[in-house]
Amino acid sequence: MNKLPIEHLEKVEAWGGASDGVSYVYRPSTVPELQKVVEFARQNGRTIGARGGGNSYGDAAMNDENILLDMRRMSRILDWNPSSGLITLEPGVTLSTLWQYVLEDGWWPPVVTGTMMTTIGGCAGMNVHGKNGWQQGPIGDHIRTFDMLLTTGEIITCDREQNSGIFYAAIGGFGMLGIFTSITIQMKRIYSGMIDVHFDISPNLEGMFSFFHENVEKSSYIVGWMDAFAKGKSLGRGDLHSATYLEEGDDPNPQQTMRLEKQHLPATLFGVLPKSMIWMFMRPFMNNLGTKMINTAKYNVGRFAGSSTTRTPHAAYHFLLDYVPDWKKAYGSTGLIQYQPFIPRDNALDAFKEMLTLCQKWDMPNYLTVLKRHRPDDFMLTHGLDGFSMAMDFRITKRNRADVTKLAHELDRIVLAANGRYYLAKDSTLRPETAVAYLGQETVDSFRRLKAKCDPDGLIQSNMWRRIFDD
Ligand SMILES: Cc1cc2nc3c(=O)[nH]c(=O)nc-3n(C[C@H](O)[C@H](O)[C@H](O)COP(=O)(O)OP(=O)(O)OC[C@H]3O[C@@H](n4cnc5c(N)ncnc54)[C@H](O)[C@@H]3O)c2cc1C
Repeated sequence: MNKLPIEHLEKVEAWGGASDGVSYVYRPSTVPELQKVVEFARQNGRTIGARGGGNSYGDAAMNDENILLDMRRMSRILDWNPSSGLITLEPGVTLSTLWQYVLEDGWWPPVVTGTMMTTIGGCAGMNVHGKNGWQQGPIGDHIRTFDMLLTTGEIITCDREQNSGIFYAAIGGFGMLGIFTSITIQMKRIYSGMIDVHFDISPNLEGMFSFFHENVEKSSYIVGWMDAFAKGKSLGRGDLHSATYLEEGDDPNPQQTMRLEKQHLPATLFGVLPKSMIWMFMRPFMNNLGTKMINTAKYNVGRFAGSSTTRTPHAAYHFLLDYVPDWKKAYGSTGLIQYQPFIPRDNALDAFKEMLTLCQKWDMPNYLTVLKRHRPDDFMLTHGLDGFSMAMDFRITKRNRADVTKLAHELDRIVLAANGRYYLAKDSTLRPETAVAYLGQETVDSFRRLKAKCDPDGLIQSNMWRRIFDD
């Protein structure tokens, strides 16, 4: 293993800030430059990992003490057809660039994440889902084709017919088979820059599930927020936002509402507080007592306001989290981790109740809890199933780090007993045996075989690969 140029050495953090390391970071801007870095890694006996926007909560886009490819300079829009809605992108294009590029032609990305800072390469790498998972599936269901650089130097094209095995494994394959160099994806036609957002509350988890049940047919998106501190009859109480696209003709002036300036979120809160400062005001509340107060207040404000429907710009509905820049800083320097299990429909209610109760018993209630509905898909390492996911954010401190990990492993028992699955983009605690238990030995072996074919020398690695899948 040779020494690498010190000027490339950088500190790299998990998005949640609960772990960090150093890597030799390279930022290629063209395919030949990318090929050069891969060859350089081989010659110097180093492994190489890809990073998009670095929005994975844990160690998926980290490759400590080795080479990390920051893909954000490969961010060109290669082809756009405003009649068909097909777009071909370099992998470093962010969702932010993408929606702003297609909106005025009457299109919207079919699947978006809660932040627009993700790149299309990172979204394909994790096969991300949106608040419409039960309807539109993950982003992979909308990817038509991609080109991928293998560590042999070859660039292959993959779609549902050509190299289809690699197509279904690389999407959601957390960057372990090769580096995406271009991705073609189908956009969704829209007839307005606005979307009808309905707000409601539920007194408990049963009510949250009933809301989903009653609204999945008529809604385009649904998301639930839960107060993880509420107990007893109020366990799992929270707010719900469902949203429905406007039909053609519903918006009298779509050219106006689809203009970018109609989408932007306000720069201040209540017209005074710059949004860049909001996290500082959140910081003193980031403890059990403070968050309990905030959760109670949020629920009661919702109860007082009652149900309502508001016509909202797409960006404001989808990217609410971006409204508070750097909100994760409120968690302090030791950050947060997220735990997001996916549980089949029939088992989800009982499993989530048991999980919320267990967190309370351990005196480690999660500070932000989000409920979504999903559907199964055909990708090899999929997290998708006909059921629900519950995303749970845990604050990490020097004192509780080991206990949160222990708690996560206790939660794993509930997830596995309920035939649940995991989402690698959010993971920090999964153990190899748990991955085999939910994916099946056969699937893990098939993935390893494909990796050996695409990357015969095992050059592509990440901290996550070494933690969970390295043989
Ligand atoms: C605030 C917030 C909200 C979120 N909301 C959602 C949500 O609603 N739904 C959801 O599904 N996820 C959500 N996520 C998770 C996020 O969407 C995923 O982690 C996504 O993969 C991040 O994209 P990225 O560009 O930052 O990729 P990174 O995190 O940098 O990388 C993700 C994976 O892709 C691989 N990769 C990156 N680029 C390439 C490439 N060119 N070729 C091959 N592999 C590559 C990396 O090696 C890594 O394994 C959220 C994250 C945050 C921080």
